Amino acid sequence: MSAITHHISQDLLAAYAVGHLPKAFSVVIAAHISLCDECRASYEALQALGGAVMESTGSEKVSDRLLTSVLDRLDDDWDDETAYERSGIYPGPVMETMNGRQPRWKKLGMGVKQDILLADAEGSVRLLYIPPGQAVPDHGHNGQELTLVLQGSFSDETGHFGVGDLEIADESLEHTPIAEDGVACICLAATDASLKFNAFFPRLLQPIFRI
Ligand code: ZN
Ligand code: ZN
Repeated sequence: MSAITHHISQDLLAAYAVGHLPKAFSVVIAAHISLCDECRASYEALQALGGAVMESTGSEKVSDRLLTSVLDRLDDDWDDETAYERSGIYPGPVMETMNGRQPRWKKLGMGVKQDILLADAEGSVRLLYIPPGQAVPDHGHNGQELTLVLQGSFSDETGHFGVGDLEIADESLEHTPIAEDGVACICLAATDASLKFNAFFPRLLQPIFRI
């Protein structure tokens, strides 16, 4: 795999480590950690630090229940056996979220397809399939959007993203991701609020596709 250049921010990694992220975001973070040695090392260091703090604090200061829940959390949501395994292009946490099934692609138009893996009140996470050279309609964001490349690559106003790269977008970014030529770009994308599409037509479709 070519070198990963876009990583998890420290804020996101810390929030993930203590279990403060919506489930949809956790899937993307866990998937990046499974692909990225650098972020995995940072995460494991955070886990070790968290465990040491909990142990040195002692149960007379921290209720047993809290201690147990934090230590459980540090054990991770993901099955250790499968967390770092990939099935084809799909990292372990993605396979777990799909319950081992293959993607069920639904057409969004222009050759773009999606498969919503999980959607709840806090956010949603989906697989996106973007044909080579195809653009995703330009849009702003009401909240945060995390996009992890699983196959191929895309570029937008902020840079180039290849396999394993993570783009973190928020309210301040308006962008038009375009898949590069070659193989189709397949991404794992999580949002914590509805995207704001600029063009009228995609906005009409938004409730239908729950983007
Ligand atoms: Zn990383
Ligand atoms: Zn976006």
